[in-house]
Amino acid sequence: MPNKISQCHSCKKDIIWLKTFKGKNIPVDAETVKDPEAKLFDRATMVCHFETCVDAEKFRKPKEEKTAPAKTETPPPAAEPEEEIPL
Ligand SMILES: [Zn+2]
Repeated sequence: MPNKISQCHSCKKDIIWLKTFKGKNIPVDAETVKDPEAKLFDRATMVCHFETCVDAEKFRKPKEEKTAPAKTETPPPAAEPEEEIPL
């Protein structure tokens, strides 16, 4: 299936959402995506829209800071020492 072309909300440029090798969604300048069925972002041939968007700052800065309580990481349970059974 060919990729769906979207428009950047800020600059209205055509972008295609692809995935990085890490599986993260990334907006890519549609004009740099030569393969209409490309699924993965290729840094060698494609340009991430974050780098070209005039409003890139908006992407980087969260619009509103969520005041959700920070998750306190529970420390992993202490591993019980394996008892050596004397033979
Ligand atoms: Zn943009």
